[in-house]
Amino acid sequence: MDKPRSPLPHGKVTEPVRILVVGGGYVGMYTALHLQRLLKDGLRSGRAEITVVTPDPYMTYQPFLPEAAAGNISPRHVVVPLRRVLDKCRIVIGEAKAVDHAKRTATIATLATEEEGAGPVQLPYDELVIAPGSISRTLPVPGLADYGIGFKTVEEAIGLRNHVIEQMDIASSTRDPAIRDAALTFVFVGGGYAGVEALGELEDMARYTTRYYHNIKPQDLKWILVEATGRILPEVGEDMGKYTVRELRARNIDVRLDTRLESCEDRVAVLSDGSRFPTRTVVWTAGVKPAPVLAATDLPRNERGRLKCTARLSVEGVDHAWAAGDAAAVPDVTAGEPGRECAPNAQHAVRQTKVLAENLVASLQGRPLKDYAHKYAGSVASLGLHKGVAHVYGRKLKGYPAWFMHRAYHLSRVPTFNRKARVLAEWTLAGLFKREIVSLGSLEHPRAEFELAAGPPPPEPKDEASRGGTADGGAKSD
Ligand SMILES: Cc1cc2nc3c(=O)[nH]c(=O)nc-3n(C[C@H](O)[C@H](O)[C@H](O)COP(=O)(O)OP(=O)(O)OC[C@H]3O[C@@H](n4cnc5c(N)ncnc54)[C@H](O)[C@@H]3O)c2cc1C
Repeated sequence: MDKPRSPLPHGKVTEPVRILVVGGGYVGMYTALHLQRLLKDGLRSGRAEITVVTPDPYMTYQPFLPEAAAGNISPRHVVVPLRRVLDKCRIVIGEAKAVDHAKRTATIATLATEEEGAGPVQLPYDELVIAPGSISRTLPVPGLADYGIGFKTVEEAIGLRNHVIEQMDIASSTRDPAIRDAALTFVFVGGGYAGVEALGELEDMARYTTRYYHNIKPQDLKWILVEATGRILPEVGEDMGKYTVRELRARNIDVRLDTRLESCEDRVAVLSDGSRFPTRTVVWTAGVKPAPVLAATDLPRNERGRLKCTARLSVEGVDHAWAAGDAAAVPDVTAGEPGRECAPNAQHAVRQTKVLAENLVASLQGRPLKDYAHKYAGSVASLGLHKGVAHVYGRKLKGYPAWFMHRAYHLSRVPTFNRKARVLAEWTLAGLFKREIVSLGSLEHPRAEFELAAGPPPPEPKDEASRGGTADGGAKSD
């Protein structure tokens, strides 16, 4: 490794060490949080600076997205405000467009640079933590880009909730059976925890909501889960995966294994088994791929586009660059076989950040680094209110106990006491009152009402003569 610029917190003070964290998700937020604590003195005395570049001013606790979609948790409580949590860091709302690590410079586009039209700015740094996570891994399925929706962000989760309830409103008021049928058909592609939990929670919410529709019964709703392999929820093991299939089928959910979505053009989902479902809802949760910015760096990547990392969470063969989480291919030293990588999940991401931050500081101080080692503990998943499945440390749970464990586990994990208290309060109140069943889709068009009030814009003048005319055809005086 290069000689450290300014050993912290001991050593001769030269210039501050500038640490750049790209991404404000699990890895970005937790790494900055650990660094903020470890470098407390350095930050106070000006010997260190931490800058976090992230497109949103919040970290999203993704495991709560399905519950947010079901209306059990309000969207604000699924996210953690970075400025409050990382109060010793500089938060830049923007996007890293490229990184030239050889020159220790990142190219950053912010809202301000867009507004100014000046183009992205160059941000120099000494240490890089690159954690832009992943995006939905889409395939060239015809119609998917036009009609599909992902399930990775709070905007998508809430948008989907509003959309599902809106479809029920459409079905309830149309006289056309074909429109009604398509509105009440919901296709989910991908049987990992994002897809299964999202479907489980939304189906549960929609079934409850039918109580308030005079002409929609639970059996009118058609939910289809399409999975390309022969199993779902690999995170909870084979037995619990099979249990989940049985549980979903018992709820009248059509689970199709070894099946792929071939097309969703013209709002018709065509599956590889030949079936066709007219639908207005295709939710795509068929895996993730590393964030595109990684391709615009000079850092080494593996064949799947993840950054090649060492078990110490440094980028392989490169000094002063660190990575973890979904964007990083970190060797799983507990696997006992070479070449195995840590899976892209929060369980690894959170634990990796502690080792990453400690190693970064150790490298600045010239101390030895340690390896990241964590054996996957299993997983918990919610399948709707009071329903769940879990396989943790060899223990298998299903139904209510698994659901309870899911809630207890995530409550203990969601960052900050503030968020824990708010989520617990919401769950408690939800137990006392009826579920929320409104769609606030109109929030996505806040100007619609005012545009209506303001009336249509005046027609564009067609020629020279009409340019001088008034609405009643008279000539306009100066
Ligand atoms: C619905 C859902 C449920 C899940 N449930 C579980 C679960 O129960 N258990 C579990 O272990 N895991 C779960 N996961 C997976 C887990 O959330 C991810 O593995 C984890 O978020 C990865 O952390 P990360 O920091 O690498 O990425 P993220 O948390 O996604 O953070 C990446 C951040 O980088 C930002 N970013 C992207 N590009 C740029 C750029 N160019 N410049 C700057 N910033 C950028 C993004 O906006 C984001 O803020 C779930 C995921 C989803 C979608």
